[in-house]
Amino acid sequence: MKISEILVAWYEKNKRDLPWRYSVDPYRIWLSEVILQQTRISQGLDYYLSFAEAFPDIRSLAEAPEERVMKLWQGLGYYSRARYMHATAKHVVEQLGGEMPRTYEGLLKLKGVGSYTAAAIASICFNEPRAVVDGNVARVISRLFGVEEAVNGPRGHKIIASLAEELLDREQPGLHNQAIMEFGSLQCVPDSPVCAGCPLSGRCVAWKHNRVDLLPVKVPKRRPTARWMYFFIFRNGNEVILMKRDGNDIWKSLYQFPVLESDGPAEDGELLVRMEQELMPGVAELILERVSPPVRHQLTHRTIHAKFLHIRTGRWPDPMPDTWVRVPSGRLDDYPVPRIIHRYLQVANF
Ligand code: SF4
Repeated sequence: MKISEILVAWYEKNKRDLPWRYSVDPYRIWLSEVILQQTRISQGLDYYLSFAEAFPDIRSLAEAPEERVMKLWQGLGYYSRARYMHATAKHVVEQLGGEMPRTYEGLLKLKGVGSYTAAAIASICFNEPRAVVDGNVARVISRLFGVEEAVNGPRGHKIIASLAEELLDREQPGLHNQAIMEFGSLQCVPDSPVCAGCPLSGRCVAWKHNRVDLLPVKVPKRRPTARWMYFFIFRNGNEVILMKRDGNDIWKSLYQFPVLESDGPAEDGELLVRMEQELMPGVAELILERVSPPVRHQLTHRTIHAKFLHIRTGRWPDPMPDTWVRVPSGRLDDYPVPRIIHRYLQVANF
């Protein structure tokens, strides 16, 4: 029996019942793949269901206001995924007549669609023989074939991609791709894979040479850098200020409280002086009501150390900066915000 046949037989018996597995609609497959990048299925499933309900087809996503898209995405992280998906949906509707490309090469031309997503959509929806390589597939292949090159380095990735193509069942590429990814998710898992009873153990180089725990080899990730952010919650009556982030960073298009950053921990007194000069110039009545305990928030490449300073004022700056909006405190939940803000709003007393 070929390895691919073993994988597919295993898949038919063990696959999880997931909503996108009933679809070959390229929009639905795209949605599921984008949501599940960097996200566990248990977390991504609810997001998929809410998105598919709010935007059942590419046209409804394209026509949605950006804020609604970002709000639904809130909490998933890697917000550029949502921004690209929204921009791409508009492009498909406006330039391609609402039809997603039907080939790997055509899909690759879409903004935010990389080789993994293009291969998944092309194979599952259009039966194009393209092997997918994600973290699960790389792990399975590196163990099966005993690849000692780092799978997250360029040489290792090339080796894995070429072995993945060799393994691919070209008659049923979509099924094969889903099978190997699911096998990596459930059987050949990162820690303590289920090797006893694994249908591929007889062919597995890592198992044979007792190297399962040592593969795949990975280049160590860089250490996260630290960033200090001090958010100011300005309140005037029942209104507070939110500002829309317009810089080209991970939180672009999300809302936050006006912020000051520093290279290291800053004293409250120093922050209040900077706040008066940089955020509220010319506004005299500014009263510090309370300061939150320090909040630590971990992103993939960054550790954020934050505090929230609650300031009461009797008036707003005039003119108000373009990116600021006055929001009734009871409506804060209408705005898409980074997770660190969302978490604080859940515990802070407004
Ligand atoms: S024997 Fe173990 S390491 Fe090898 S493919 Fe099976 S689960 Fe993965």
